[in-house]
Amino acid sequence: MHTDFAHLQKRLPAWLEESRQLAEHGKVAGYIPGLARAPLRRLGISLHSITGEQLAAGECGAAFTLQSISKVFSLLLALMDRGEQGVFEKVGMEPTGDDFNSMLKLELVEPGKPFNPLINAGAIAVASLIRGDGPAEKSARLLDLIRTVAGDATIGWNEEVYRSESATAHRNRSLAYFLKDNAVLDDEVEPTLEVYFRQCAIEVNCGQLARMGLVLASGGKDPRSGSELIPRRYVQIAKTFMITCGMYNASGEFAIQVGIPAKSGVSGGILALVPGELGIGLVGPALNDKGNSVAGVHLLQTLSRQYDWSMF
Ligand code: GLN
Repeated sequence: MHTDFAHLQKRLPAWLEESRQLAEHGKVAGYIPGLARAPLRRLGISLHSITGEQLAAGECGAAFTLQSISKVFSLLLALMDRGEQGVFEKVGMEPTGDDFNSMLKLELVEPGKPFNPLINAGAIAVASLIRGDGPAEKSARLLDLIRTVAGDATIGWNEEVYRSESATAHRNRSLAYFLKDNAVLDDEVEPTLEVYFRQCAIEVNCGQLARMGLVLASGGKDPRSGSELIPRRYVQIAKTFMITCGMYNASGEFAIQVGIPAKSGVSGGILALVPGELGIGLVGPALNDKGNSVAGVHLLQTLSRQYDWSMF
């Protein structure tokens, strides 16, 4: 079924306000100082369809950092740089059921390779696979890919968020040292973390994120020209990870309640897509205990039920 944009346009503002009420039950991520000031009740959404329709509601123009959403694109770039074999030598394909920044399984399960590319340990391993002469070039290549996919060359990094995460990321540092000790990282720890913190600090708005989702919904093609931006096989891999691991250890529940590929970040952003149909960018900084936007998940659930989005 195709989403009826005329119907959606009429109903979206009310659905958004209803979901916004849930923000009271969430908390803004406080462990990265640069994120702690985001307004709890902010909620914005933008939807781009493959047929060229666009809709937005709420605070859709507000800027926020990608955080974990960036992991989808660092994975895609690493796949383009190293191929499937090169990536899956260093990182697995399975969900963990643990928190996104957990180190439990790194020591518990041999051979100490991170379970998947969307948990922090896996994304740090993936950051080390991006080609480039040092962290600045690697980070610039990833930013370039994101600008291309978003169709907007003005996208950049939020330096304050980058610096504040880098200064306080004791847990990510320990994950990286663990990986180094297990010979998962070829590079040194600090240059690898620089790439990882920079990718997390790339700043977008809902419209730019929706367009990124639309490229994934189109199998890696530019939605307008039809030219290939990312090989279809790699987009297929990324979307599969989004379904199985994209909403951290609430991915199973999200698959049942919403049923579409999505990736969230601790800034409250969610990138979602309806394959072959829609790209969705959303922000709602109030997070639940799993680290997903409370109001954002509720809004996606409402829309999925209404327009029968579930892939299952
Ligand atoms: N920068 C964040 C971190 O590493 C990203 C995690 C997230 O969005 N869940 O903690």
